[in-house]
Amino acid sequence: MMQKHQLMTPGPTTIPPSILGVASQPILHHRTLEFRNILKEVSQNLKKIFLTDQTVLIFSAGATGGMEACMTNLTDQGDTILVISGGVFGERWAKIAESLQRKVIRLEIIWGQAAKPHQIAQLLSEHPEISLVTGTLCETSTGVEHPIKEIAQVVNTSNALMIVDVVSGLGISEFRMDEWGIDAAVAGTQKGLMCPPGLSLIALSKKAKEKMKEKKGPKFFWSFEGALKSAETENLPNTPFTPNISLIMQLNEALKMILNEGLEEVWKRHQFLAAATRAGVVEMGLKLFVEDAPSPSVTTIYAPPGILGPDIVKKIREEWGISLVAGQGKLKNVIFRIGHIGFCDPKDILMTLAVLEIVLSQLGLSIEFGKGVRAAQKLFINKI
Ligand code: PMP
Repeated sequence: MMQKHQLMTPGPTTIPPSILGVASQPILHHRTLEFRNILKEVSQNLKKIFLTDQTVLIFSAGATGGMEACMTNLTDQGDTILVISGGVFGERWAKIAESLQRKVIRLEIIWGQAAKPHQIAQLLSEHPEISLVTGTLCETSTGVEHPIKEIAQVVNTSNALMIVDVVSGLGISEFRMDEWGIDAAVAGTQKGLMCPPGLSLIALSKKAKEKMKEKKGPKFFWSFEGALKSAETENLPNTPFTPNISLIMQLNEALKMILNEGLEEVWKRHQFLAAATRAGVVEMGLKLFVEDAPSPSVTTIYAPPGILGPDIVKKIREEWGISLVAGQGKLKNVIFRIGHIGFCDPKDILMTLAVLEIVLSQLGLSIEFGKGVRAAQKLFINKI
């Protein structure tokens, strides 16, 4: 049977046709006025998405590169970092920091739960040497949204910098860089920003820019100082090296789409889609992995007893052309995940729930057809 493929994954996410089309445009030279005007528009609109007055740096690399760059530019060897670790991506900060020979203090959060600000307050008072705290807005591996606003409030009573991975949160969840007092935030293009993967977007506070001057460790491509100089010192922003030109042009289109819908509307749409997804899977008899702080990006669901998460994912992809994802790390067989990010609307949720009912039934689960779909329909009927 002919199959139409759909990504219901927490990144990369579906790219709208208008953004796909931009990639087919002829390449511009990056030093032309034409491209630098695009870069200017992108820079202005990125500030409106991060909600910051500060320059947002654009590096041509995946988001992990941007995370490493934050560590390289904002800390030195031997500095003490507090890592909020409750999943693969929280832990990634620790791995990066340790590989760069920083000292790591881990706050181990049970996977599936959110960090509590008082835990961070306690560690900061016990360890005044902590110079930087890392957090993750949406922990994609568990589907938890951490209370970054409240954590930042605590961190801002100390001298430490607060840096946040907003890779699967930006353009999805409420995030206010300046108002919340965040010192560095890293995003990628392949999630809420509806583009292919390949850019690291990094916003820095004034405090971060000051601290950065004291950090003398080696860096070249990843030098924030160099990137800021290019981005800020001329009338039109520039980049130190050849950037990913097509992707920046695609990002320009994506940011306009988000701003046209309205950032707060986009946040609300994600909440709404996530709520409908949760209602649907619960009604079909499944158990959610996250009880208290589910992220609007991704719904994480226990695989039913006797069925492995990867088997559900494989069957849905092969037979229906819908990509979900299994768990990561120690959750590999335990959960499966439905992403509802970016170019996603209620139809996608209804389709996914309907197909999930069929596939789970074929895998041996007792399913009353239509129950999960109906729960989502009930939510949608009043709000669309
Ligand atoms: N942080 C989070 C929360 C993510 O979801 C991801 C990607 N899944 C990353 C970091 C890493 O991004 P990349 O694969 O672009 O390096």
